[in-house]
Amino acid sequence: MSKQKVLILGGGYGGIVTAQRLQKKLHYNEAEITLVNKHDYHYITTELHQPAAGTMHHDRARVDINDLLNTKRVNFVQDTVVSINTEEKKVQLENGEQEYDHLVISLGSEPETFGIEGLKENAFSIRSINSVRYIREHIEYMFAKYKNEPEREDYLRFVVGGAGFTGIEFVGELADRLPKLCKEFDVDPERVKIINIEAAPTALPGFDPELVEYAMDVLRKKGVEFKIDTPIKECTPEGVVLADGEEIKAGTIVWTGGVRGNSIVENAGIETMRGRVKVDEYLRAPGFEDIFVVGDCALIINEEINRPYPPTAQMAIQMAMNLSLNLVAVVRGQPKLLRQFQPEIKGTVASLGKGEAIGIVGKKKIFGPIASLMKKIIDLRYLFIIGGIPLVLRKGRF
Ligand code: FAD
Ligand code: NAD
Repeated sequence: MSKQKVLILGGGYGGIVTAQRLQKKLHYNEAEITLVNKHDYHYITTELHQPAAGTMHHDRARVDINDLLNTKRVNFVQDTVVSINTEEKKVQLENGEQEYDHLVISLGSEPETFGIEGLKENAFSIRSINSVRYIREHIEYMFAKYKNEPEREDYLRFVVGGAGFTGIEFVGELADRLPKLCKEFDVDPERVKIINIEAAPTALPGFDPELVEYAMDVLRKKGVEFKIDTPIKECTPEGVVLADGEEIKAGTIVWTGGVRGNSIVENAGIETMRGRVKVDEYLRAPGFEDIFVVGDCALIINEEINRPYPPTAQMAIQMAMNLSLNLVAVVRGQPKLLRQFQPEIKGTVASLGKGEAIGIVGKKKIFGPIASLMKKIIDLRYLFIIGGIPLVLRKGRF
């Protein structure tokens, strides 16, 4: 009998953890496991705000995929997924095609622009190693340009659209980085502005108000200006236009206004909400016994509040661990062993730049250096999960 084909699309949190667990659980003669990823490295998305601001080198936030997988057990294909044909059970890649018996979609998210005019064309977003290299270079270029056109103070204005967790973590890093660039380029720090614009009546909507206040206080002291309750309605090559008509000219606009699932999924004819698939209790796409979805492409409702769980790395990892058990069950033809997915949210910790953070761990609120330490521990724990002590020592920041 020919081996069953398990095809994993995307080597982020969901894809890598699924592949690693499967390579341990399935015997080599039970299934052929293939992972397709755009790059030959796995990037640690939760750290990307740092290389984006230039406070950390991007190499620290990526790991070679071949170092993470047993390549005798998992075929790694470096390619870009173009489309999924669910009827023929085939996936079209830029440079080839893959067939599957069981498909895992873990392609992550895309920026949600809500149709705001000019955002796609004129704003940066923090989503990959290449995108953050671009942001860091652009920030430095703005300083260099300003030195040659000192009347253009807009070159030194940095607008961040959205004060969710990504926006808040990024402005924290930016506020640490810009004073260093001021020294390097002989620029008066008074000329530099970081403006974080948020549509909702508060930054970090839905998060604990006391911690939100703490975060805004820390960031204001570092020089961040907030514009709250002020939606961005347009983005132009010169800056942003707000709903109240105000125009802010800025040389750098970074959009952190939210995410949606990867568009490849909705184009495959799978039912989605903002690109995310409302999976069943076993993480299957509705109507497809052979398609599983994990990470940012999956949507799971928190019944307690009747709202979706936010797409996080924490969820992606837990889903991947559960999915690997379910894949073993389906490959072995043991449907009774399928396990329902039950998220276990351990908390949320967000960095505010060097030595500062906020968070809720269990039911406890934490902030300041303790929260910052906790954030580091969470980052190290992930390195340990995917690469053990050697990876912690090689990539960890202590
Ligand atoms: P990803 O990790 O994004 O992986 C998707 C993979 O698919 C990537 O390797 C990508 O290259 C690949 N891919 C995409 N398209 C294609 C294609 N067409 N062909 C081939 N490959 C493709 N969550 C937390 O829980 N805690 C945090 O502290 C936290 N911090 C964050 C900080 C930042 C700056 C950001 C942006 C997000 C943060 N998140 C955090 C959210 C978290 O990063 C995501 O929820 C998580 O990465 C989702 O995992 P995933 O596997 O679904 O997608
Ligand atoms: P988000 O959806 O959490 O936040 C986006 C923010 O942008 C919201 O506050 C929203 O009100 C605002 N916004 C939307 N439209 C706007 C407009 N027109 N003008 C101004 N503001 C606008 O998105 P995110 O911050 O990118 O986070 C994505 C996911 O990643 C979330 O699930 C988040 O929890 C997770 N994440 C977690 C961490 C952490 O745990 N440390 C860090 C980063 C991201």
